[in-house]
Amino acid sequence: MSDLADLRPNEEAVELEPASDATLRFIGAIRTPWRDRKDCPRQGRLDGPECQLVLDPVWHNALAGLEDYDTIEVLYWLDQSRRDLIRQSPRSDGQTFGTFALRSPVRPNPIGTSMVKLVRIEKGTLIVRGLDCLDGTPLLDIKPDRCAFTPKAPDKANVY
Ligand code: SAM
Repeated sequence: MSDLADLRPNEEAVELEPASDATLRFIGAIRTPWRDRKDCPRQGRLDGPECQLVLDPVWHNALAGLEDYDTIEVLYWLDQSRRDLIRQSPRSDGQTFGTFALRSPVRPNPIGTSMVKLVRIEKGTLIVRGLDCLDGTPLLDIKPDRCAFTPKAPDKANVY
């Protein structure tokens, strides 16, 4: 998914060894209405269509307590992205920005994140609104909204 010839004006790519250092464990898959990248929103909206986070059964008990949150954070693997661009031209107009100054799916580790509205949980499937990824995108992680979350671990001494 990287092609040095397939660049927009002034974009810059680097040649990389195939990535093999970190091993992530996908915990399920995301079901959305979008089959083609051109149809996906650039960023999800909380009033967007209902999507599903379908967890592998082994993780169902890991959802205990999540129903207390209206908003949750979802991390996913943008598996169809190239990963070698260091400068990108979002508008294809010759103006480029560094990859780390963008939320483009094209990045060395194509992790997408969205804050989504948790509509309901049906067994191991979470119904949410606010996603922007293709149908079948691998699911990496789910966390409560950091603003609504109160740490459940004891306070740490001498840490401010
Ligand atoms: N909300 C996430 C973030 O900010 O980290 C992702 C934003 S990214 C701009 C969303 C775009 O990624 C979509 O509009 C679509 O073009 C692209 N995309 C969605 N699913 C993808 C996938 N599985 N692989 C590669 N690109 C994907």
